[in-house]
Amino acid sequence: MENCIFCKIVAGEIPSAKVYEDEEMVIFKDIAPIANIHLLCVPKEHFKLLSEVEETRAALLGRMLQKIGRLAPSLGLAEGYRLVVNQGENAGQTVPHLHIHLLGGQVLPWA
Ligand code: AMP
Repeated sequence: MENCIFCKIVAGEIPSAKVYEDEEMVIFKDIAPIANIHLLCVPKEHFKLLSEVEETRAALLGRMLQKIGRLAPSLGLAEGYRLVVNQGENAGQTVPHLHIHLLGGQVLPWA
């Protein structure tokens, strides 16, 4: 999608610190980390919200979660991590391309 920063990262049009990539998703370092390890898991397909998820995207999200679980130790997250998916304005979603924050590398405060 035009003017989507994550689509541009997926396409390699702007740089990112990618730590994993396959045919349907990428994981790269958040540019403004809020934890010792702060990664973003981004589907290559552009959509903004979980309310846009039908069967095909539900399967994609399932595979993304499965891969995160498998990759976590190699990403430095063996001791545990938190996933966050901000949805819409009240949650502070700033990039309108669905993404999963991976937070870890430390004991995380709840709030
Ligand atoms: P959200 O607020 O849930 O939409 O999260 C968007 C995240 O994208 C924020 O944590 C930003 O720091 C991060 N971000 C924005 N631009 C970039 C970029 N060019 N490379 C890496 N992370 C980015």
